[in-house]
Amino acid sequence: MNTQAVKDAFRATFGRAARGVVSGPGRVNLIGEHTDYNDGFVLPIAIEKQTLGAWSPRDDGRIAFASVQQPGKGVEIDLCEPIIPSAPAWANYPKGVAVELMREGIELAGCDVMFDSTVPLNAGLSSSASLEVAAAMALLTAAGATLPPEKLAKLCQRAENDFAGAPCGIMDQSISIMGTAGHALLLDCRRLETKQVPFNDPRAVLLVADTRVKHDIGDGGYPLRRKQCEEAAKLLGVTALRDTTMEKVQAAFQAGKLNEQHLMRCRHVIGEIQRTLQAVEALRADDLNRFGDLMYASHASLRDDYEVSCEELDAIVELAEGCEGVFGARMTGGGFGGCAIVLTEANHAGAVRDAISAGFEKRFSRRCPIFATHAADGARVIE
Ligand code: ADP
Ligand code: MG
Repeated sequence: MNTQAVKDAFRATFGRAARGVVSGPGRVNLIGEHTDYNDGFVLPIAIEKQTLGAWSPRDDGRIAFASVQQPGKGVEIDLCEPIIPSAPAWANYPKGVAVELMREGIELAGCDVMFDSTVPLNAGLSSSASLEVAAAMALLTAAGATLPPEKLAKLCQRAENDFAGAPCGIMDQSISIMGTAGHALLLDCRRLETKQVPFNDPRAVLLVADTRVKHDIGDGGYPLRRKQCEEAAKLLGVTALRDTTMEKVQAAFQAGKLNEQHLMRCRHVIGEIQRTLQAVEALRADDLNRFGDLMYASHASLRDDYEVSCEELDAIVELAEGCEGVFGARMTGGGFGGCAIVLTEANHAGAVRDAISAGFEKRFSRRCPIFATHAADGARVIE
């Protein structure tokens, strides 16, 4: 792992050497989309693209945050003053983490922190969680403190919900913290129980194709889906859509209690929770064909029932489906843009990548960056 760039940036901004470097990875969700806030299951991997945080202590009770990705927009907070959200917007993520750590009773120490990320921003690979987790790791290390992973994930989520004002679920922070190389993480978003599921079959390569269509989690689509799910759960008399079945949903629809849109949203969520558990079985049985079919089914459901895909994501999935050696493909992340993932036979990966790249360019007159990824480790103290 190359930490030189972030250390150089630290020195250029703060005029002294960094004492330590920590990491928080981005993520790709293999399957289980829009299930987290319905108390369901998700199956993400941490990826090798990550946010690094270089830090060093200071003795005036202040914390400074700066980022290579936001030049000239550093901020400083005073640990003795109230900390409130303010411009620049990006710094509300690490500031929120500082506030939440203090609420957990952690006695923060003054320090400077420089971030540098290889996770593309706003691409659906969770640069936001990787930033929060890198911030938490840096602040905890500077304070000489630790927290259990589940607690840390929840606290980073609160920082994003309450401080940065983005209503994300618990998946992104959990995988960024608990990811393990060679494994996907089955996360029960209700109980916050996790299981590591092997995801390291040498016959397969996972490609990530970035539509470069900018989703915005704070925009209307995501909160609206959440609201529709909450509404449907309430009308069904359950805590969350995890607690119901398609039979009950159908009956409520027939009785006029749920509208057509509720029906569609429920069909996605209930089906997707089942698919996620089936996908775990497929991985455990080394059945990549089955796993790939579940990916396609997930995409169709997100496109048709949940209505969170877009033309560019659909095009990538269609192009992948037309290639030899592809197990499956789907959009990943919240949707409305962002990335699609393609699971392909390793010996076809180059050809698949070229075919998607060429097909996308032909159709949209621009390129979509494609990279191969694998299940990497979660947050670490690197130096
Ligand atoms: P995603 O998490 O899918 O990349 P989000 O909209 O949730 O998209 O979060 C992106 C936001 O997080 C950016 O607009 C920026 O404010 C902040 N962010 C993420 N990474 C960095 C970074 N390395 N430096 C500064 N800000 C960052
Ligand atoms: Mg995000």
